[in-house]
Amino acid sequence: MEPTEFIWMDGELISWGEAKVHVLTHSLHYGGGAFEGIRCYETKKGTAVFRLEDHMKRLLYSAKVLEMKVPYSIEQLNEATLELLRKCEMKEGYIRPIIYFGYGKMGLNPTGSPIETVIACWGWGKYLEHEAVDVKTSDYIRIHPKSTVTDAKITGHYVNSTLASLALAGTGAHEALLLDHEGNVAEGPGENIFMVKDGELKTPAQGNILPGLTRDTVMTLAKDQGLSVREEVLRLDDLLGADELFFTGTAAEVTAIASLDGHKFGDGSPGPITKQLKQSYMAVVRGEDLNYEHYLTYI
Ligand code: PMP
Repeated sequence: MEPTEFIWMDGELISWGEAKVHVLTHSLHYGGGAFEGIRCYETKKGTAVFRLEDHMKRLLYSAKVLEMKVPYSIEQLNEATLELLRKCEMKEGYIRPIIYFGYGKMGLNPTGSPIETVIACWGWGKYLEHEAVDVKTSDYIRIHPKSTVTDAKITGHYVNSTLASLALAGTGAHEALLLDHEGNVAEGPGENIFMVKDGELKTPAQGNILPGLTRDTVMTLAKDQGLSVREEVLRLDDLLGADELFFTGTAAEVTAIASLDGHKFGDGSPGPITKQLKQSYMAVVRGEDLNYEHYLTYI
């Protein structure tokens, strides 16, 4: 990770190296933090943050799930992000807001812990390095919807994603796929998944996934291009019978899947609909498609 100059911590811009927390920070021990992953891109009109408002809405929703009383409005968080990007002279990269229970109290009930809010940014190129990735179904299942609130982006949830990612070692696969507790397809460790069959798009319905903003954007683009998009229960066999598969996520953007559990899709290179949607998505985030300029916040 390449450090930038500043990190925003509760209203102040702190130098990157000084932005530290105490080792007895509550959320470090128990995983109760709300966070986001956002990207900003260079456009003809300068740097623009993609779906800033929607990410901050989700951040505050995740914080609410943890019963955090956050002292900032969406507008204040948006403005803090823009100020940070300007001060760091960011052209293109990744933005990581996080709200956590700070130092001062131990015990599982965090009530009484200070609520701390931080926003960092840094340059982050490709998240999945390959143009098309090999995927392996994980033995770990996606967190159970009755164990937590699965549509919130909470730090502790990511133990599930980390274990699934670690388990890939030695398999040759680049990324995992997690099923849910009923054996239905859920998502990747940090991405949603889509399948294409006979020109139609399908993606797992909400309930056991993080409903991604990239997923939402790609569904909108696909529908606007006249493609049929269905959110439904999908089984592994449905994916294996697909013409194309791809992941979506802020970090992963639109990434083609070359193979699943050793079963190759076509010749393993991105299929035509994946390519088309990836191209459309990149045009939107880079401000080249003005029909979707409402998704952009220029810094
Ligand atoms: N699922 C999980 C588990 C994720 O961590 C992410 C990344 N935030 C996504 C899906 C995709 O969400 P988004 O498109 O909003 O980045």
